[in-house]
Amino acid sequence: MKIKELTPFILHVPVTRDEIADSTHAITHWGMPGVMITAEDGTTGYGYTGTHAFLPLDRVIVDCIEHTFGPLLIGKDVMQVESLNETMIKYSPALWVGRGGITQMAISAIDIALWDLKAKVLQMPLWKLLGGQEDTHLEAYNTDAGWLNWPQELLVDDCRKQVEEAGFRGIKIKVGKASAVEDLQRVEVVRKAIGDDIKLMVDANGRWDLNHATRVGVRLQDFDIIWFEEPMWHHDINGHAQLARQISTPIALGELLYSIDDFRHFINAGAVHFVQVDAVRVGGITQWWKVADLAYGHRLPVVPHHGDGGQAQLHLGIAHAGCPSLEYIPWTRRCFVEPMTVVDGMYQVPRENGAGTTLKPEAMEQFGVK
Ligand SMILES: [Mg+2]
Repeated sequence: MKIKELTPFILHVPVTRDEIADSTHAITHWGMPGVMITAEDGTTGYGYTGTHAFLPLDRVIVDCIEHTFGPLLIGKDVMQVESLNETMIKYSPALWVGRGGITQMAISAIDIALWDLKAKVLQMPLWKLLGGQEDTHLEAYNTDAGWLNWPQELLVDDCRKQVEEAGFRGIKIKVGKASAVEDLQRVEVVRKAIGDDIKLMVDANGRWDLNHATRVGVRLQDFDIIWFEEPMWHHDINGHAQLARQISTPIALGELLYSIDDFRHFINAGAVHFVQVDAVRVGGITQWWKVADLAYGHRLPVVPHHGDGGQAQLHLGIAHAGCPSLEYIPWTRRCFVEPMTVVDGMYQVPRENGAGTTLKPEAMEQFGVK
């Protein structure tokens, strides 16, 4: 079955409340520049990447999808997803101007759409195509209660509700205030509010230097933190390796790494303990799987970052043996035919054929931008 056409799109979907912030960015919408890929028989695959909804750059991504990679795909067999991924990465004009950022995000969106299409043509959910089983229990942890712009009272209230009312067994909160004292206070009050049995993670979004990260990092052991996420600049391998030797809390990173080589360097340096590969940035499902295998070979758990709203990566988490949990942020649920769903802290196994990325027509109308 051959690929007939590509139709790019951009969605901007509002986040929880009016605005959310971490230590480096504040956003009001989540951006989904993506593509529908249609086969000869009319079957359509959906794929997208995840951005801060800055329209000028979202336009560059979909332009790249349509004009750089599109011509390489038309007329190709929809079953050849892996070789098409290799072609886009190694043998396209993007080689000289990309290998990260925009071009890799465009490849990611296309690759996810192709896997969605392949699974639909084969009439099965993606997790099944990838060898997963139906009775897999994939834990969800909630990031949407812990934003840095939540005042302490709201932070505590939201975190408590996610545990007591929604049933989550894991919570992640942002750190990176100007004052380390305030950051540690926020961690302390949340730990007290949710109790000792709930997993708690903290995320600095790459803000700090080694001195500050060490100062905060040594104190985190008082609060039984499962991982310390992106303490320092995203490409600082040596810094993270040094921090890993100086603190007892494990380090998580990878949401802003764009290739398997980046992950290999961090893993080889002993600079990462939880691997947070994101299919929407690393080159799609094809490259995600290779990174997850690499991590598995080093006995490091894979806990994917949530750039796709969890829709496709839920299938990957079910199917890959190295993935114990997946982030949960519900902003884009309303856009999908089968939104990812958590019950009592565990992800429900999807039933629909494909990668879970099929958009509702009304989502295109409501959130579509040009
Ligand atoms: Mg993060």
